[in-house]
Amino acid sequence: MTIIKKIGSKLNRESKYLLRDVKYKLGLTDNFYRAARGSRIMVYHGICQEDHLRFNPIFLKRDTFELHLKFYKKYFNVISLDDYYNQRFSNNRFNICITFDDGFANNYKYVLPLLEQYKVPATFFVTAIRSVDCDVLWNDFLGIVSKYGPDKIVYKDEPYYKGRFDKYISAVSGISLVESLHFSGFGEKAEMMKILYPLVPFKTNKQEEDYWLQMTTEQIKELSASPFVTIGAHGHYHNDLAKISIRDAEDELIFSKKYLENIIGKPVNSCAFPYGTYTEQVIDAAKKNRLPKTSCNRFSFSYGPKRLNDARALYG
Ligand SMILES: [Zn+2]
Repeated sequence: MTIIKKIGSKLNRESKYLLRDVKYKLGLTDNFYRAARGSRIMVYHGICQEDHLRFNPIFLKRDTFELHLKFYKKYFNVISLDDYYNQRFSNNRFNICITFDDGFANNYKYVLPLLEQYKVPATFFVTAIRSVDCDVLWNDFLGIVSKYGPDKIVYKDEPYYKGRFDKYISAVSGISLVESLHFSGFGEKAEMMKILYPLVPFKTNKQEEDYWLQMTTEQIKELSASPFVTIGAHGHYHNDLAKISIRDAEDELIFSKKYLENIIGKPVNSCAFPYGTYTEQVIDAAKKNRLPKTSCNRFSFSYGPKRLNDARALYG
């Protein structure tokens, strides 16, 4: 096991521990957390009122997230992304930087009021998906359809069946649909959404919007107006920047930065790469295009069986 993997696995254990037993641990490990020193960026995604495993295993319940905030306030300094990158850390406590990936409308609905209530900063990495009148990320879409759709489908004359983790696997190539789409541009993904939507018309159920709906431009603007909020870029279409051409990846970085700056009326100088994947070239492209605060040494919280391992390299 490499050192980075060891660190990753230790952090995952800690995150599991912290999450599942946050209340319980508060009483028992008081001294441990008080004595901790260092810094960490925490990666969150969606927040919902109930049943956080219903659509996406990386969601958390609002009440659980509130417990995290109480926990952080009690034991740690909660610092902004700017302070994190400028190494403005306190040495008398552990330092936590809260971030959210993906730009879910539930961030605006549930997280913003909590940040204001507890007076803690957070950064939201948002895509530019609304620029193409799309209200859901392609991967969330496919995740929902794969989970609730039929066991077998025919997509573009190719048969697919449900394999491990409810992924549609091609009977011809053995490759999952989600994996093959990682290498495609947005056009193909948009087509996929059009073709597969009738299988699981989930948008008709407004009560379940928390699980997939993206923020509107107005919500991004309002979120950004809070003194506790920083907005960062997360690509244009939530494409995997390490798997598309570097030219397209660079275009996405440039477009998403300008798009967000236009909405919020402030500079956007940070980005988190979708899926946490990147190449040296992608990092260079981000830096070249005035996105100096790219990806980071961070790990993500996730509940449920499909854990997201996320100890990332440090690029400041
Ligand atoms: Zn993402």
